[in-house]
Amino acid sequence: MTTSPLFARVTIIGLGLIGSSIARGALALNLAGELVATDGSADVRKRASEIPLAHRIAETNAEAVKDADLVIACVPVGALGAVARDIGAHLKAGAIVSDVGSVKSAVLKDMSAHLPPTVNFIPAHPVAGTEHSGPDAGFAELFVNRWCILTPSESASADAVERLKAFWQALGANVETMTAEHHDLVLAITSHLPHLIAYTIVSTADELEGVTESEVLKFSAGGFRDFTRIAASDPTMWRDVFLNNKDAVLEMLGEFQEDLSKLTRAIRRGDGDALFEHFKRTRAIRRGILDIGQDAASADFGRPHQGLPKGDGKS
Ligand code: NAP
Repeated sequence: MTTSPLFARVTIIGLGLIGSSIARGALALNLAGELVATDGSADVRKRASEIPLAHRIAETNAEAVKDADLVIACVPVGALGAVARDIGAHLKAGAIVSDVGSVKSAVLKDMSAHLPPTVNFIPAHPVAGTEHSGPDAGFAELFVNRWCILTPSESASADAVERLKAFWQALGANVETMTAEHHDLVLAITSHLPHLIAYTIVSTADELEGVTESEVLKFSAGGFRDFTRIAASDPTMWRDVFLNNKDAVLEMLGEFQEDLSKLTRAIRRGDGDALFEHFKRTRAIRRGILDIGQDAASADFGRPHQGLPKGDGKS
C-alpha cells in the first residue's frame, strides 16, 4: 500500500465489472486520497456502500465529479456521451477525464462534444475482463499483467498522460498509447470479431436439428465450451461495441469471410496440405501469445488472478 496517493480525489462513474475492479484496486493500493463513486442505478449505489467500493458514494454524476482530479467513466460505450453531458459543467480545470470503453473513436467524438477545453481528456481501454457484470463481479487483480491502451485527445497534456499511465501501472497494467482509430482496428480483430464469432457459433448450435441440446452441453469440452464463455458476455456492452465500431468490424469480417471461404474450399476438395499449413501457422500464433505472457498454458481461460502489485503506486 502506498502512503502518498497518486491523486487527491478520484471519481469512478459506473460500478460494474470494470468500475468496481478499479475501485477495489484503488482502495487496496491507496491510489486516491478520496475515492468517490457513483452509478446510475440506485441498487448498485446501495450495494457499493455496503461492500464498500469507495470512501463516498455520490447520488449523481454531476455531484460525484466535484473537485475530482481524475474522473473515470466506466459505463457502456453508448452511455458515455450522456455521462460527459452530465459532468461537463462540473469538472475542475486541469482534471483528467477518462473512460474504459472498448471502442475509442466514437467515444472520443461523443465525449469531446460535452467536455470543457480546460480538462485533459484521455480515453482509455483496459484490455481485461470477464463475462460477468455488476458491482460484485469486480476484483482488484483484474488488470494485473493486462494491457491498458490510452488514446489521448489533442488537448491532453503530456504530464496528464503520464499521470494516468502511472495510475494504470499501479493497478498492475502495462500501458501503451496509440490513436483511437488504430485502437479500433486492432481490437476489431483481437476482440470484437472473436466475440461475434462466439455469439454466432453458440446460437447456431442452439438452433441445430439432428444434434440434441444435451449432446451439445455434454460434449462441450471439444471446443464449444470456450465459445459459450465468450458468448455469455454482457449484451448491452457488446451491442454498443458493434454499433460504435462498425467500420473496423466490417473490414475485419470481410477478411475473415475470405479466409473462411479458402478453408471451406480446402475441406471440400480434400486438400489436406492446405489445411495442415493453415493450422500450423495458427498454432505458432498461440505459442507467441504464451511466450509474451498474455495467457497461461493451463486452462484458466487466461485470467490468472495474481496478487496486486506491491510497489508504491508510482511505478
Ligand atoms: P457493467 O458491469 O454492465 O456496469 C456498467 C454500470 O454502469 C452499470 O451499473 C450501469 O447501471 C452503469 N451505468 C450505465 N449508464 C450510466 C450512466 N449514464 N451514468 C452512471 N452509471 C451508468 O459494465 P462493464 O462490464 O463494467 O463495462 C463498462 C465499460 O467497460 C464498457 O464501456 C465496456 O465497453 C468496457 N469494458 C468492459 C470489459 C468487460 O469485459 N466487461 C472489458 C474492457 C472494457 P445500469 O445497470 O443501471 O445501466
